[in-house]
Amino acid sequence: MSIYSGDVFDMAARQFGVIANHLGIPMDERDRLLLPKRAITVSCPIHRDDGSVEVFEGYRVQHHLTLGPTKGGTRFAPSVGIGEVAALAIWMSWKCALVGLPYGGAKGGIRVDLATISKRELESLSRRYMQEMIPFVGPHTDVMAPDMGTNEQVMAWFMDTYSMYQGRTVTEIVTGKPVASGGTLGRREATGRGVAHLAKRVMAELAIDLNRATAVIQGFGNVGSYAALELQQFGLKVIAVSDHTGALYDAAGLDIPALMRHATAHGSIAGFSTELQFDPTQILTLRCDVLVPAAMERVIDAETAAKLQCRVLAEGANGPTTPDADLVLAQRRDEVFLIPDVLCNSGGVIVSYFEWVQDLQQLFWEEAEVTRREYQILDRAFDQMIARANADNVPHRTAAMAIGVEKVRAAKNMRGLFP
Ligand code: NAD
Repeated sequence: MSIYSGDVFDMAARQFGVIANHLGIPMDERDRLLLPKRAITVSCPIHRDDGSVEVFEGYRVQHHLTLGPTKGGTRFAPSVGIGEVAALAIWMSWKCALVGLPYGGAKGGIRVDLATISKRELESLSRRYMQEMIPFVGPHTDVMAPDMGTNEQVMAWFMDTYSMYQGRTVTEIVTGKPVASGGTLGRREATGRGVAHLAKRVMAELAIDLNRATAVIQGFGNVGSYAALELQQFGLKVIAVSDHTGALYDAAGLDIPALMRHATAHGSIAGFSTELQFDPTQILTLRCDVLVPAAMERVIDAETAAKLQCRVLAEGANGPTTPDADLVLAQRRDEVFLIPDVLCNSGGVIVSYFEWVQDLQQLFWEEAEVTRREYQILDRAFDQMIARANADNVPHRTAAMAIGVEKVRAAKNMRGLFP
């Protein structure tokens, strides 16, 4: 019996099985590559505003330490569990290796419904979580970042808590911090920008006119909102957007800057417009040029995959497409161009890496430099994925993950097994 279970972990394991079969990795090597190096579970007690004490469960999974420290986001959501966090850590490993970063993957989180806690309680919980993690993290051991439900403010609290215990400011302990606290220019926008940049590249290859093209975005948080903004700036009409409160549709194109201002002020897209409201269950199957799932895992199953009407599926979220859906998409390769999550949303970790490097060196770059380098890495990885998919005659996801798995495997085999 393993502690790693659940739908999301099973999906990561099944995807790895596909890659391991494709690469012909011997059975006795597979567990060493797949199973996480460490999994930490902590209890985080906090004082609630009414004076009571409540304990929240927190997790951190560090997948492998072969190439350097581990790196990965922290998720605050009611669904968070050790299996989900482990899957996300494993995907981070393949992603970092694919784009050539000197990291293993990690992920963490707290099982909490943010709608039920106040800002003061959120600060207590964030600080207590980091304090419990101090023995297990460090700038050269494991570096945290934001993910669903966390943001720059939470990263600033993490950094402050860690620094207080060290007796000095250690900005390089987390990435995705506010620029005012040692963050980098361009990190907030990085993931969404990367998604839009790759989608634009694919549209150019498919000869899609940007000024006549449409986009649909599921999830309007950090990734979804900046992907929408960037695509709109490229000339696309963003015709539909959804979040956990509902969906909006406008055939003439939604006003994304206004929607971002509304979401920042009110915490969601709810209340932006009554006329534009739309059935959120229909959003993924709308006809459009670019579809960006940027919310949860496992939203595109085989049935939805068969009904997709997009030309480009740009996976902003981690794990939005199930392995069964991948089988359908493999049949529809000529109709739907897949940019898989491990590549599509890797702009976030690429710029997090730049932030870590700048913090370690105390030498900061201009935003244009950050973005130029981000696109350079994304373009190189995209070219490698396409070349590999053509050479091996496999879908894009298999090609991208195979490159990542192969690099981790080569590093492990060269280092050997200790002792
Ligand atoms: P976020 O918390 O900023 O935003 C999440 C968004 O999803 C919110 O708008 C929320 O309302 C929406 N959402 C939640 N449940 C939904 C549902 N059932 N239907 C529609 N929308 C729903 O999170 P984020 O940082 O933007 O992360 C989104 C996804 O992107 C996650 O899968 C995350 O792992 C992945 N990702 C994030 C980054 C990053 O830099 N933040 C980098 C790589 C990948």
